[in-house]
Amino acid sequence: MQRLKGIGVSSGIVAGRAVVLIQRAQALRYHIPPHKVDHELARLEESRARSRAQLVEIQERLSRRRPELSSLFDAQLLMLDDPMLLPRAATIVREQRVNAEWAVQQVFREFGAVFEEVADPYLRERQGDVADLVGRVHMNLRTHAATPRDMLKELDESSVLIADELTPSLAAQVDWTKVRGFATDAGSRTYHTAILARSLDVPAVVGLHNASEQVQAGQVVVVDGSRSELLIDPTADELARAAQHTEDRRPAMHDAERRRPASTADGVPIKLDANIEFPDDLAAARYAGAEGIGLYRSEFLVTSGADDFRDENRQYEIYRRMLEGMAPGVVTVRTFDVDEEQLASRLANRPFAAGWEPEEPRASRQGLRGLRLSLARPDLFRVQLRALLRAAKHGHLRIMCPFVSSVEQLREARAMVAHAACDLTRRGETVTHVPVGVMIEIPAAAYTADLLAREVDFFTIGTNDLIQYCLAVDRADERVSRLYEPLHPAILRMILMVRRAARRRRIPVSLCGEMASDPAVLTLLVGLGLTEFSMTPGAIPVAKQVLSELRSDELRALARRVLKLATIDDIERVLLAALGRLTLIKGVTS
Ligand code: PEP
Ligand code: MG
Repeated sequence: MQRLKGIGVSSGIVAGRAVVLIQRAQALRYHIPPHKVDHELARLEESRARSRAQLVEIQERLSRRRPELSSLFDAQLLMLDDPMLLPRAATIVREQRVNAEWAVQQVFREFGAVFEEVADPYLRERQGDVADLVGRVHMNLRTHAATPRDMLKELDESSVLIADELTPSLAAQVDWTKVRGFATDAGSRTYHTAILARSLDVPAVVGLHNASEQVQAGQVVVVDGSRSELLIDPTADELARAAQHTEDRRPAMHDAERRRPASTADGVPIKLDANIEFPDDLAAARYAGAEGIGLYRSEFLVTSGADDFRDENRQYEIYRRMLEGMAPGVVTVRTFDVDEEQLASRLANRPFAAGWEPEEPRASRQGLRGLRLSLARPDLFRVQLRALLRAAKHGHLRIMCPFVSSVEQLREARAMVAHAACDLTRRGETVTHVPVGVMIEIPAAAYTADLLAREVDFFTIGTNDLIQYCLAVDRADERVSRLYEPLHPAILRMILMVRRAARRRRIPVSLCGEMASDPAVLTLLVGLGLTEFSMTPGAIPVAKQVLSELRSDELRALARRVLKLATIDDIERVLLAALGRLTLIKGVTS
């Protein structure tokens, strides 16, 4: 048996047969006769076009399922057009008369040399994106044009994936229902893949250096995410330990474990809800042990195009099924958070009597969006509110308004709820009281949280937007996205301010941004006094486990210390050091 040490990024132990995936292309060099140079250039161009189409497809798929991760591929799409990459490879093909694979490899080496000189760790990390992209271009240069999905066809339910590097784009194409666990040679560069592993609840070890060379395809291996190890040809005892662990995680036992409400080690209850995009995600939320749905992004009814979102009965049926499916848990439905362009594109192909069109197409996500757009389209808003109020009889519903920046908007929204209730009463339907809350995701809302708190039933802090608007950083803009920092002191102070405003008025406050899915950050948020969160379902079991090991008084002391720090680096260092001392389960914060 061989034991390789790495960094556990997702806990759990699994045994399985290795499927080995080497992404780093070992390109061969060969000369091209002059009359074949054009053909070689055409291959390169074709590969670029195919790579672009694949990246766009992945991005679209992710933006439906994991919108917060879809911008991961913006950098690669930009790089496809960078003159230093593929046009430079074309020059090498032309001047040196070599095959396209070799030229691409050369360019990557040149890039690598430049990146090595860069001091900025963020920019150095971009090398991972270049490597990912080069791997893709290489793959598409193959005449049979195999995709990773084809390459991964040999996966079955007993597979453990061993790769030199599991880049986000490859991870997005893996059928995770068929992968028991994974291990990679590379480490920190695949941080986003580590997030995916945790959210998928798949044991994973990274940073193993040369596992992909040591493991033969088909060999039996054990991935131990808790001990940060990969065992090759494990002993019978190790196999039995893995089997026992899998047994312990068997649904029957695991279910009870998962259903247990979350609390800190000293018994402070923490409410963990799920963020979902599609009604079908309810099963995943329940499976993960969510108490309720803290954020249902109802706008997917608009953007997915699956149903006619203007049909009150269709909406009513969807909300009703969701409330019944989650009972007795609370379901918080966020009213449509679309912008005018998304709405216009969904209405474009349909006969539409009101004749409303945006003046001109605008891509801005800062304009007429969320509640602002709902108020500009009372006809659509009222349909949604009626459907929601009708469904409310079938469970515990809360209505949440997105993108609120003033008390006036909130009052208008409340008036719309009252009008919708009148519509129903006129129809002879009984109307139950439904709490109405707002998302705090625009700095103006955070700064006026004390005023808003007097007029709403609950707050939900949406840090995904709050961070970008507070720090003036568009996450989609690669040039500034490294400034997108959940641990920026301004963000922590704003969260504290909103939490205090809510507590003073005794209204519930939760946080549903992606930052809560990171267990290290979550513990800090608990230290800041938050006790309700909503997150991607896969993150809930890990969050429960981490919280159960930590005392709330220690977390409060940690938050007090962190609030005095001036830089993100210091905050990160103190946070991780403190959590290490608090004997957090290994691997979760690495
Ligand atoms: C947020 O802004 O934090 C949020 C949860 O909403 P979304 O990511 O859908 O904008
Ligand atoms: Mg938002």
